[in-house]
Amino acid sequence: MSSGITVISGPAGVGKGTVVSHLVAAHPEIWVSVSATTRPPRPGEVEGRHYHFVSESDFDALVAGDGLLEWAVVHGRHRYGTPAEPVRRAADAGRVVVLEIDLAGARQVRKALPEALSVFLAPPDWDTLVGRLAGRGTETSEQVERRLQTAKVELDAAQEFDHVVVNDDVEGTVGQLVSLLGL
Ligand code: 5GP
Repeated sequence: MSSGITVISGPAGVGKGTVVSHLVAAHPEIWVSVSATTRPPRPGEVEGRHYHFVSESDFDALVAGDGLLEWAVVHGRHRYGTPAEPVRRAADAGRVVVLEIDLAGARQVRKALPEALSVFLAPPDWDTLVGRLAGRGTETSEQVERRLQTAKVELDAAQEFDHVVVNDDVEGTVGQLVSLLGL
C-alpha cells in the first residue's frame, strides 16, 4: 500500500463528514473508504454507502483476521474500523484515497503508513464546536457531554498532523483540502 492516502480527522462535531461529502461531490475521482461499524444505522443511512453495519461477532472476526487497517472504539460505545483490502486495492489502482476517521484511528494509520498525508480539521473556536455537538439533536445530553470531553483531548492532538485546516466554512475548507491533495 502506498502514497495517495489521506487521513482526515479531528474532534467529534468538527464537520468531518460534511467536509468529506462536499470534497467528493467536487472531486468524484476521490475514493472514500467505507468503514465497518457495530453502531446501528441511523434513519436514512444505507448499508455499504455510509457504513458496513456489522454485528459484534463480525467485527471480532475482522479484527482477528487482520481485516482492518485500523479500528477504534469511538465515544466509548461502538467500534469503527477501516477495511484494509479495499483501501489497498484503491491505492494500488492509483486512486486518491481518503479516510475519514477518529483520532485514535488516525494515529494507527500514521504508524502503519507513515507516508500517508494527515489532515486535522479544527473548529474555528471552542464555542462553535460545543454548538455543533449540542445542535446535532440525535444524542442525549450524556452523549453530548462525553463528546465534549473527548473533543478537549482531541484538540491537543492537532500538532501530530501534517496539516491543520480550520473548518470555518465548508467551501473554504474543501478548497484547502483540494490543494493539499494536489487535485
Ligand atoms: P458517527 O457514528 O457519527 O457516524 O461517527 C462517529 C465517529 O466515528 C466520527 O468521528 C468518525 O470520524 C469516526 N469513524 C468513522 N469511521 C471510522 C473508522 O473506520 N475508524 C475510526 N477510527 N473512526 C471512524
